[in-house]
Amino acid sequence: MKDLYGKIQILEKQGEELDEISRLKAMNRPLLTWYGEHARQLPWRDNPTPYRVWISEIMLQQTRVEAVKPYFHRFMEALPELSLLAEVEEETLLKLWEGLGYYTRAKNLKKAAITAMETFGGQLPESYEDLLTLPGIGSYTAGAIASIAFGIPVAAVDGNVLRVISRLLESREDILKPSLKKSMEKKLTLTMPKDRASEFNQGLIEIGATVCIPNGQPKCGQCPVNAICLAGKHHTYGEIPVKTPKKKRRIEQKTVLLLEHGDHIAIIKRPESGLLASLYEFPNCEGWLEGGQLAEEFGLETETVIKIEPLEKAVHVFSHVEWHMTGYRVTLGKELPEMYLEVEKTSIREKYPLPNAFGAYIRLIK
Ligand code: SF4
Repeated sequence: MKDLYGKIQILEKQGEELDEISRLKAMNRPLLTWYGEHARQLPWRDNPTPYRVWISEIMLQQTRVEAVKPYFHRFMEALPELSLLAEVEEETLLKLWEGLGYYTRAKNLKKAAITAMETFGGQLPESYEDLLTLPGIGSYTAGAIASIAFGIPVAAVDGNVLRVISRLLESREDILKPSLKKSMEKKLTLTMPKDRASEFNQGLIEIGATVCIPNGQPKCGQCPVNAICLAGKHHTYGEIPVKTPKKKRRIEQKTVLLLEHGDHIAIIKRPESGLLASLYEFPNCEGWLEGGQLAEEFGLETETVIKIEPLEKAVHVFSHVEWHMTGYRVTLGKELPEMYLEVEKTSIREKYPLPNAFGAYIRLIK
């Protein structure tokens, strides 16, 4: 490996073209050395059992490392074993996940745990192909578990890796194309050091997270593969990776109600499928309503309404839709209508999983 890295540097100085496979192989040695010296201390890296690696990888999808840490600790404390995850009440699970968003991830964890109990003897399977059969586990997560927990030499290609390798090879292919990801997985699985799969995959992800960063200028001066990186050499990293622009998000207007009576407040359970499935929410409806329209829309007897107080507007952004919300605090002089679940304000946060989308209004509960 040492020879290859040096040889590539010499050839590059002589202006020779190198094939992609040689360039990828030449990355291995400096990457492993750098990772050995720069790996961040992360809770899931101590004792990387298949279960801990799996939970951390699912949490890290769409969520920053710093934000995941407290969730990971809390989850491991509550459900330290796969068998407990398979049996946990959905409401408890969603409460543990509350704030992380993308709740389907949590539901899939439980489904996968049940499958692992029934089909794989209570363990995560020690095979990349079997891991792929579990709900919520795609090629990246299967590669991460297989390599980090079991030492299987298979690539784990996430957004970080797509960016680093596209820049290294100065590839202008669209990184959102599934075919590009597949071909990168194949090439890396072929060229990675077979006995150091865990460090290799983690090193590559780590470079993407801390050196070859997505926004702003990459830190090429600190990068272990600087000498063989084509985008670094030609200063084209600002143009790479290439991504097709995302579709514009749909905007939905909503009116949210803090419907209160004494120490109690109304919530509703959301449907079992779709966005934020099975979580709780405050009564709400499509569109921005005026105070005078609330009683009819929310099934309230006008004479029971003591006070209507407008609340601040709030926006919550999901991947495909944005909620633009306006709110009211409505105080009733008698019990809440039966269609609502009447809960004590003081216990709402501990007992009921309420998604972050309503965070601006949760904070206003007195
Ligand atoms: Fe990224 Fe620069 Fe390293 Fe190339 S040299 S991989 S552009 S940080």
